[in-house]
Amino acid sequence: MKADEAISIEQRLMASVYSKRPVVAVRGKGARIWDSEGREYIDCMGSYGVSIIGHCHPKLVEAICRQASELISCHGSLYNDKRSEFLEKLSRVTPKGVDRAFLGNSGAEAVECALKLARKYTGRKEIIAMMGAFHGKTMGALSATWDKKYRAPFEPLVPGIRHVPFGNLERLREAISPETAAVIVEPIQGEGGIKLPPEGYLKGVRDLCDEKGILLILDEIQTGLGRTGRMFACEHWSVVPDIMCIGKAIAGGIPMGVTVAKEEVMSALKRGEHTSTFGGNPLACAAASATLDIITGEGLPERASRLGPRLMEGLLALKERHNAIREVRGMGLMIGIEMKHDVYNVIMKSLEKGLLILDAGRNVLRFLPPLVIEEAQLDRAIGILDEAMGDVAGGETGGRVPDRAAEGI
Ligand SMILES: *Cc1c(COP(=O)(O)O)cnc(C)c1O
Repeated sequence: MKADEAISIEQRLMASVYSKRPVVAVRGKGARIWDSEGREYIDCMGSYGVSIIGHCHPKLVEAICRQASELISCHGSLYNDKRSEFLEKLSRVTPKGVDRAFLGNSGAEAVECALKLARKYTGRKEIIAMMGAFHGKTMGALSATWDKKYRAPFEPLVPGIRHVPFGNLERLREAISPETAAVIVEPIQGEGGIKLPPEGYLKGVRDLCDEKGILLILDEIQTGLGRTGRMFACEHWSVVPDIMCIGKAIAGGIPMGVTVAKEEVMSALKRGEHTSTFGGNPLACAAASATLDIITGEGLPERASRLGPRLMEGLLALKERHNAIREVRGMGLMIGIEMKHDVYNVIMKSLEKGLLILDAGRNVLRFLPPLVIEEAQLDRAIGILDEAMGDVAGGETGGRVPDRAAEGI
């Protein structure tokens, strides 16, 4: 199928909720993607952070193909070999004692489960989330998400969820009431613009939750599975949550979301209170099992912690050359570049030059490359970005930035 044809069909028949880049991606390998015209791109979008192990990792492809010919669907009311294998592997990498899992099919679902669980376990109604937070777009998750443009059109949302400034312990303390069930927080805010917590903040949140007898929910959907240089970002600060949400990369690109909790907490959910038809299906579990093997077997968290500083250094050198860069920040291979202007033109210019890169809000460029990306590919990505920024500053693309209100993830 020709690119034009694919584009026009999607434009005609698909809900237009995504801000599309004009690329028809047809094939991927490691950190590279090819479009229908055979053009090659370095993929620093990584499918919004999904492609931790790279595209079409041979061991993942093999696991999926093998399982597809064994058993694809198997409801949670039957036991399954691949599911139990995956659960055991998962329990070896999650924070100690946080190993009772609910298996769902997306990040937002992992958050839904966490919110219901917090209410059920504590018998209280209120949840405190953070300004700048992103937790997904289903009604419950959306209620914890901060951005008004995602929330406002769909009100009334789930009541009892309030937002406090990320990084401010005093404001959090003030917001806690006798009806507070839990605090939900991303260790590093992703969609919110790659915002790192101030030193001591997450530990402070943990202590405050303990002091007040409320649950700590960590949303590690974007920060988890090696992205920041540790298996889960909370390890950087030695913080153990009561409930943790995992998604994006967990099944290597096959849809899956997982909510893990301490045994005592998860046991609050009784038979039938929270289930999913597809949740824990053998195909997704076989994929997730292979993905965990690859992440641990290839030392991908360590790789992210080694490559992160190299990327950071390259981007800081760009800051010396481009006045429009305000700040470069991040951890491991989760890095944001805050610009003084809208990043749309830089993204489009990079695309023309063979680099796929994300935004995180209007003025932040975001790198979420596969952790298997090669040094030379990272260097090339920095080179392309350098050129793109030069072109945009030189006014070559200038022009109007389209209305991005309908931006979607
Ligand atoms: C992507 C993301 C979600 C939502 O995941 P979906 O699979 O899109 O529902 C939730 N929280 C965080 C931190 C995310 O990055």
